[in-house]
Amino acid sequence: MARPPVPYDVAVRVYFRDGWLCSHCRRPTVFHLALKLLAERVTQALPHAHLAYWDERWRRDQSPLLDQLAASIDHVHAFSKGGEHGEANFATICVKCNLRKGTRTREEHAAVDSPRRVKGKYGEPTAWDGLAFTYMMLARESTRPLTATEKGWLRALEAWYDTRLANER
Ligand SMILES: [Zn+2]
Repeated sequence: MARPPVPYDVAVRVYFRDGWLCSHCRRPTVFHLALKLLAERVTQALPHAHLAYWDERWRRDQSPLLDQLAASIDHVHAFSKGGEHGEANFATICVKCNLRKGTRTREEHAAVDSPRRVKGKYGEPTAWDGLAFTYMMLARESTRPLTATEKGWLRALEAWYDTRLANER
């Protein structure tokens, strides 16, 4: 059974809950569409710049950052083994760890391939956003119509941002 897609608003909550850090290797992950809009914006300003920010398929030769660090969603308890397809069972994972993990459960994967977890001398980042707010800004300023997918992510990020704003008041 193919797993259903993760709704944008759920993914956004999971990413921010996890500080946009990969739950396996602890590397900072990046929101893929931020690099798409960033590439467009930089190309508008600097048409002769050669960029490797964005590629639809996250290819290393075209987008090394996405190839390594694009944020995705992992099931803590494997979906194929009956793990729930819901927020409480989701965790942020970088695309590299996700590919290496394949269909293994997290425990099986950790036993055969546990990445060296990144540790910071000064502690973990508390405000990393995966460039999600860069995306929000660029999407709002975009001079071309956004695709349905881009709009969906924008709305989810705005909702999350508004919730945080309300909580800080
Ligand atoms: Zn990782």
